[in-house]
Amino acid sequence: MKPLKAKAIDWIISICEQCSINDKEKLLMDCFFNFKLEGFADEPEVYIKSTLLGLEIGYEATLWLDGHTPVAGLMKKHLLTWETLQSLNNEKQQEMILELLMKTIHSRKRQYRKCQFCEEKLPVEHRFDKDTCFGCASERWGIVY
Ligand SMILES: [Zn+2]
Repeated sequence: MKPLKAKAIDWIISICEQCSINDKEKLLMDCFFNFKLEGFADEPEVYIKSTLLGLEIGYEATLWLDGHTPVAGLMKKHLLTWETLQSLNNEKQQEMILELLMKTIHSRKRQYRKCQFCEEKLPVEHRFDKDTCFGCASERWGIVY
């Protein structure tokens, strides 16, 4: 399998080909791309999205409404402003996006831990505590959600 970083580079290049980063008006209309971390745990996704302020980079995570109802949420980690982007050439733009994307990927990965009972690797929002997933906490300790 191709290393993650090489895949991320290909992904960023394809985004830059699909929508011109220097054409803010065009980019603002429709730019949301996600990238799956294939082969890692439950294959979480990171994303790049355009906003009025710039390019937002973050990851997708489950949020719990009222503590019970799962909804998909976007967790913003970094913002590259239009001013910054426009001051760089294409090569530098891609470098900066890659750097922030890799930071986002690493911080998302750090949120994953193995459950001490079922040994499944899960993100923080699917665990009862540091070492225990929700499923095992309710099965072993009778915790009800
Ligand atoms: Zn478990």
